[in-house]
Amino acid sequence: MTAAIIDGRAIAADLRADLAGEVGELSARGVTPGLAAVLVGDDPGSVSYVTAKAEACAEIGIFSETFRLPADIPREALLERIAALNADDRFHAILQQLPLPPHIDERVILDSIAPAKDVDGLHPANLGRLLRGESDGPIPCTPHGVMHLLATSGVDPAGKHAVVVGRSSLVGRPLAVLLSNKAAGANATVTLCHTGTADLAAHTRTADILVVAAGRPGTVTAEMVKPGATVIDVGTNRIDDASRKRGWRLVGDVDYAGVSEVAGRITRVPGGVGPMTIAMLLANTVRAARVAAAG
Ligand code: NAP
Repeated sequence: MTAAIIDGRAIAADLRADLAGEVGELSARGVTPGLAAVLVGDDPGSVSYVTAKAEACAEIGIFSETFRLPADIPREALLERIAALNADDRFHAILQQLPLPPHIDERVILDSIAPAKDVDGLHPANLGRLLRGESDGPIPCTPHGVMHLLATSGVDPAGKHAVVVGRSSLVGRPLAVLLSNKAAGANATVTLCHTGTADLAAHTRTADILVVAAGRPGTVTAEMVKPGATVIDVGTNRIDDASRKRGWRLVGDVDYAGVSEVAGRITRVPGGVGPMTIAMLLANTVRAARVAAAG
């Protein structure tokens, strides 16, 4: 069997086109959705993520501004910057690019973003709403993107066994909550695996839907996958590749060559979950502007 590819680039492009229409309608009513991106330091990965996000905003008419701050910025100064953005009506959404330098506790910064402007859905108030099954607040972008990939690919999680590998509060844990919600497009029975899981393959082999967000290449290989399963690879890992001009390439957490011979549907890296994460950032910005416009 050769798996059908779930094309994240195409699905994200459709979503962005829908969002562009919504931005146009809001702008016609005098509300231009605005996103403030805060970047501390000059980590090349973070710089390129923030640049890509700003470009994606511009493409669909979202106003965005990136605030680049030095790596040694004191915590209080960063908190003051966020407080100013919370009060700035031009911005409906605030993105704090992670990771932050070690002298700044990420949780303190994420907690300081006004929940209504929390574009990543990582404020405890928003994560709490997610846990209560409320879907009208900002939902963390990557798990939301995975749910959208499933929905648009005709994969209904209802009654299925979904296995999520990875329990971060950014990806795995909110995804397990979303998949197990008592709601249309969810209602799966969920197993959440991590490094304390005794026999990972015993769980992954029973998955109808397998989502891997471990951050380690080769975490899931062909013999760990049930034939016909849907496999979503969230991992983005840089590995050395002398054949590339830049000296590296991106790979996921799944052994694509082997697993694509067993799975029924599969995402690629790049071109799978990554484009969805950015599209969901735009969706959360537009949603925040819509809520603000409604007063
Ligand atoms: P993270 O915070 O490092 O969490 C990784 C999780 O995977 C942890 O819960 C860890 O378990 C678990 N894990 C690691 N190795 C494992 C193994 N061999 N078996 C079972 N569980 C294992 O990472 P993250 O932020 O969730 O990100 C995960 C991956 O997704 C990374 O590659 C990241 O770059 C990528 N990512 C991609 C996007 C995108 O847009 N495509 C967005 C976000 C993240 P413990 O809790 O026990 O340590």
